[in-house]
Amino acid sequence: MNLLRTLADVVGSPNVLTGDDAQPYLTDWRQRYRGRAQAVVRPGSTAEVAAVVRACVAARAPMVPQGGNTGLVGGGTPDDSGDAVVVSLQRMSRVRAIDTANDTVTVEAGCVLQAVQQAAREHGRLFPLSLAAEGSATIGGNLATNAGGTQVLRYGNARDLALGLEVVLASGEVWNGLRGLRKDNTGYDLKHLFIGAEGTLGIITAATLKLYPLPAAQMTALAAVPSLAAAARLLERARAAAGAALTAFEVMGSAPLRNTVETLPGLRMPLPLGQPWYALLELSDAESEAHATATFERILAAALESGDIADAAVARSLAEAEALWRLREGIPEAHAKRGGNVKHDISLPVSCIAEFVDSTNAALRSRFEWIEPIVFGHLGDGNLHYNMGTVPGTPIDVAFAHESGINAVVNDAVHARGGSISAEHGLGQLKRDAITRYKPAIELELMRAIKRTLDPLGLMNPGKVI
Ligand SMILES: Cc1cc2nc3c(=O)[nH]c(=O)nc-3n(C[C@H](O)[C@H](O)[C@H](O)COP(=O)(O)OP(=O)(O)OC[C@H]3O[C@@H](n4cnc5c(N)ncnc54)[C@H](O)[C@@H]3O)c2cc1C
Repeated sequence: MNLLRTLADVVGSPNVLTGDDAQPYLTDWRQRYRGRAQAVVRPGSTAEVAAVVRACVAARAPMVPQGGNTGLVGGGTPDDSGDAVVVSLQRMSRVRAIDTANDTVTVEAGCVLQAVQQAAREHGRLFPLSLAAEGSATIGGNLATNAGGTQVLRYGNARDLALGLEVVLASGEVWNGLRGLRKDNTGYDLKHLFIGAEGTLGIITAATLKLYPLPAAQMTALAAVPSLAAAARLLERARAAAGAALTAFEVMGSAPLRNTVETLPGLRMPLPLGQPWYALLELSDAESEAHATATFERILAAALESGDIADAAVARSLAEAEALWRLREGIPEAHAKRGGNVKHDISLPVSCIAEFVDSTNAALRSRFEWIEPIVFGHLGDGNLHYNMGTVPGTPIDVAFAHESGINAVVNDAVHARGGSISAEHGLGQLKRDAITRYKPAIELELMRAIKRTLDPLGLMNPGKVI
């Protein structure tokens, strides 16, 4: 029987999209990858996902799972053969259960991250995963990419927030591992195979996630810092003074901030743009606003005194805090509007970061005199978006024409310092080949062995990761 007819029997014809209806699912957020597919299929339940997988296996059709399609490495975009079926989880958006006594929530994979945060808040709990694309990114995509975001410093990444998973395997069988247990030493922890696998081992259909108490008070400040080394010292000072209450520590270069304020309407810098770096700090206090204010004042006063910050602005209201976060979270959107840049999502020990940026900037500038570093990221996690644009007057296409040369300089410098060339975005199509240069052969072979075991026909998101 024809595959599309079988899929329509499973999910209903309105949920099998072809032609123009399928187009939004075939291009990635950055508009860098465009693919083709037999169809986009939108199952509404785990049983339907399983039936879709069985039908695709019978027809030997590759499957590309997709959530909110906000991934930045082309993981959710099919290749251009037109053979694939994109399996969109967007209709599976139910919160199945909240257990406040156990501090867990069980949600379907297509639940948008912001909706999970909201559901938790309505029950007096915090679901801490937070990233700029949270209005569209889904929990399935967050787990499949092991997303990081702005709260990793305190709560860890998506992997650390998952207690259980439900997965449709490449065979079409359903593995129900939705356990809400914080302790379970009964052999291999299988959920971790699917988390971060970018859809290459199976389709995540639901997850049981950890919840936390809502903080009594939250405060945000922006500090102007004279160097990245000073920002790292400020981080150390803030950690020592605030401990677990320090929930975010982001840095932004003055170039991306300037571009963002110029590009997105309604944004304003509360400090003059005269320093090379800016740090965004967030305190989440379990006690009170007065306690948070006192902690912040202590940290900032000591840092001013030591010269590690030149100036600071503390948000006095929720609206002011949101405006500070908008400066940080608007950076990717503003640069996408300005034509993009050559992206790197690197992580290093925090202790190496300032030296890495100084020496790699110098190495890049000596080879590409038109380069302009657009650097920002999650300094508290040792993770920078070390992106490369061009100085005014040089079109960004010049940077894209030299992308492989730029990547080689950056990736070699990261590798030489024991870092990772993909901290939180994954490998997808973008870094699939590059990683073979840096990962030990034995690690790559173990990954291939896992892939062969769980997906012997190679139909789960082929061409991604490995
Ligand atoms: C403006 C902006 C800011 C961002 N900021 C951050 C950030 O701070 N931190 C961060 O980590 N990321 C960030 N990202 C990247 C992106 O939002 C995350 O990777 C997110 O987790 C992807 O979720 P998604 O639902 O959009 O997944 P998609 O883009 O749809 O898919 C991503 C990958 O996961 C696979 N996948 C999706 N759903 C499933 C499923 N149910 N089962 C199995 N595989 C699946 C896909 O095949 C693909 O390989 C940002 C993106 C944008 C556009």
